[in-house]
Amino acid sequence: MKAEIKKLIELQEVDKKNVDLQKKCAQLEKEIKELQTEIDKAQTEQKTAEDRLSETQKEHRRLERESEEKDVKIGKYKTQMLNLKTNKEYQAMQGEIKQEEAAKGALEESVIKALDLIEELQGKVKENKEKIKAIETNVGIQRKTKQDDLAQLQVQINAGLEVRTRIAGEISPRMIAEYTKLAQKRAGLAIAAVKNCTCQGCFINIPAQDYEELKVGDKIYFCSHCSRILYWYGAKQA
Ligand SMILES: [Zn+2]
Repeated sequence: MKAEIKKLIELQEVDKKNVDLQKKCAQLEKEIKELQTEIDKAQTEQKTAEDRLSETQKEHRRLERESEEKDVKIGKYKTQMLNLKTNKEYQAMQGEIKQEEAAKGALEESVIKALDLIEELQGKVKENKEKIKAIETNVGIQRKTKQDDLAQLQVQINAGLEVRTRIAGEISPRMIAEYTKLAQKRAGLAIAAVKNCTCQGCFINIPAQDYEELKVGDKIYFCSHCSRILYWYGAKQA
């Protein structure tokens, strides 16, 4: 087999390995980002609970104030009642007081409901805080592992690129250009083996004459269908 073909096969293998490593890198980077998403999600949940808590506390204060105002009003009515002259006036005032007391009762119920909700939300906020802390610890560990893996992959990629530069330096610029063009067009498979007269890139049959010449291996052949650089598969084992 022509030395250049051998080098091209090597180059393709190194490139394939590097593409796989790059994919692994991208996957790890995605996973690292997703870890942050987990924290973000828990923090958003927490923010919602905190906002709701603060709203409820405000509402609770408003209800308390209103209830106190009712007390003042009822007290005032009761004082006024002492100075009333007629029975009719007295009854009217009593009706007013009853109405205010009913309103105050409803307010008090709302106050209790608000207090229950505050308690519930405070529990949730506290629980979330613990949850976030646990997630952060867990994410920190996972992130560290993934970042270490990423660094290791980067070392492998750099080593692979060095190998690539060395191999590429031993191939003519014309063949490198051809290879690069084909690799881009053919998803990384620029050079294909021919097995039993069949191009393993596109699975079209190669004329028997070409196949015999390919076996001899002193010329460079291109597939008439997919344009890939061809080599006889048996040569690789040789
Ligand atoms: Zn082909």
